[in-house]
Amino acid sequence: MTATEPAEKLLSPVLSASWDDHRPWTLETYRRHDGYQGLRTALEMDPDALIALVKDAGLRGRGGAGFPTGLKWQFIPQNDGKPHYLVVNADESEPGTCKDIPLLFANPHALIEGMVIASYAIRCNHAFIYLRGEVVPVLRRLHAAVAEAYRAGYLGSNILGSGFDLDITVHAGAGAYICGEETALLDSLEGRRGQPRLRPPFPAIAGLYACPTVVNNVESIASVPPILVRGKEWFTSLGTEKSPGFTLYSLSGHVTNPGQYEAPLGVTLRQLLDVSGGIRAGHRLKFWTPGGSSTPMFTDEHLDVPLDYEGVGAAGSMLGTKALQVFDETTCVVRAVTRWTEFYAHESCGKCTPCREGTYWLVQLLKRIEAGQGEPGDLEKLLDIADNINGKSFCALGDGAASPIVSSLQHFRAEYEQHLTERRCPFDPAASTVWA
Ligand code: NAD
Ligand code: SF4
Repeated sequence: MTATEPAEKLLSPVLSASWDDHRPWTLETYRRHDGYQGLRTALEMDPDALIALVKDAGLRGRGGAGFPTGLKWQFIPQNDGKPHYLVVNADESEPGTCKDIPLLFANPHALIEGMVIASYAIRCNHAFIYLRGEVVPVLRRLHAAVAEAYRAGYLGSNILGSGFDLDITVHAGAGAYICGEETALLDSLEGRRGQPRLRPPFPAIAGLYACPTVVNNVESIASVPPILVRGKEWFTSLGTEKSPGFTLYSLSGHVTNPGQYEAPLGVTLRQLLDVSGGIRAGHRLKFWTPGGSSTPMFTDEHLDVPLDYEGVGAAGSMLGTKALQVFDETTCVVRAVTRWTEFYAHESCGKCTPCREGTYWLVQLLKRIEAGQGEPGDLEKLLDIADNINGKSFCALGDGAASPIVSSLQHFRAEYEQHLTERRCPFDPAASTVWA
C-alpha cells in the first residue's frame, strides 16, 4: 500500500466489520459474520499447534508493548499441575486510547470467542475479563454476551462437544490507571490495592494466585478468531513483515472525523487523515502522539512515519496503543503537556519515589511556566526531574510521564522559552490567573 492509493483500499474492517449492522453485539449478528467458526477449527487442533499458528501469524500484543502473543502463550509451563489462567486486560485508560471499549460495546462475542480459543491453547479452565469500572454500559453488555455464550454452549462444560471446559468471570475495576499495568491488575483482581509487582517473575510463570497466567489485551485476543477463519497467510499479507495484520487506530483531537479506524499496521497518519476528513477546516497540524501521551510526541515532519512498531520506533517514539491524538496550531504545547502531567501525578500509585515525587514537581513547574511565572532554569529543572524518573521508576507509568516533557522540549523549546520571556501564555494570556 502506498500513500497514493485510494482511501477505501486503506481501511480493512475485520473487528469493526459488523459495527454498523443491526444490534451487532448479539450472538445472532456475530454468527452472520463467521462468529464462532474459528473456535470450531481451534477445538479440532492440538493446543500446541494452535499456539504455533498464532506465533507463526506474528500477532503482536495490541495493548501497547507489541509483545508476540503466541510466544506469551508458549511461556505457560505444561504439566506443572497448577491451574492456568487467562486474564484479559480491558482496563483501557491511556489518554486518547479508545478502541477496546468501542470494540467490546459493539462486538463482545469477538473477545469471548478469542478467549475460549486462547484458554484451550494454554490449557486454562477459568478466564477473567478485567474491565475499566466506569464503563457501566459495556459491563452490562459483556455480562449479557457471556450469558448468551453459556446458553449457546460456547462456554461452560464440554464446549461444542470437545470435552473442553471454560468459565469466564467479568470483573469491573474501580477506575485506577495503574490497574492497567498487568501486575497491578492481578493484585486488584485478587482483592488487594492495585500496585505493580516486581517482574520477573512475569505473569506467565507466577501470575494470578501465583499460577501461570497469560495477560492479554482485548484487541489481541479478539484478533485471534479471524486468523483461524481466514488463515495465517491472509493475516501476514496485511501490515508489514515484522508487524503483520490489521489493527484499530483511535483518532482524536483537532480532526474532522474522530473515531476508530481499522487498517493494516504500517499505514501513516497522512493516510489516516485522508480517509477521516483531515485536520479541522482552516487549520494545520502542530503535534500528535502515535500511541497516547506516554509515547514521545511527533510533529508535522512525521506525517509519513509508518505506524508499525519498527517504523515509529525508528523515528524516535513508540507505537503504544495506536492512540493518535492530533493537535493543531491553536494548541499551547505547554498547556497540553501540563494536562497530561497532571494526569500522571494523579494516577501515580505512590509505590516508588521517582514517580510519586517527580510527577508532583513536574506539575508545579509546568503550571507556573504556563501561567507566565516561570523562572530562568525551569526548563533544565524539568529535564532533570524527567531524567530522574525515566528508567528509574518501578513501572512504565513513570517513563510515560517523562515522555511528553522530553519530547515537547525537543520539538517546541522556543514555545516554552516564550512563556518565560513574555511572562504569559502566548495562546491564552488569561492563563496566568489559573495558577496564581
Ligand atoms: P513490557 O514490554 O514490559 O511487557 C509486555 C508483555 O510481555 C507483558 O505481558 C509481559 O508479561 C510480557 N513479557 C515481557 N518480557 C517477558 C519475558 N521475558 N517472559 C515472559 N513474559 C514477558 O510492557 P508493559 O510494561 O507490560 O506494558 C507497557 C505498555 O503498556 C506500553 O507500551 C504502553 O503503550 C502500554 N499501555 C497501555 C495502556 C492502555 O490503556 N491500553 C495504558 C498504559 C500503557
Ligand atoms: Fe507506582 Fe509510579 Fe512507581 Fe509505577 S512508577 S510503581 S505508578 S509510583
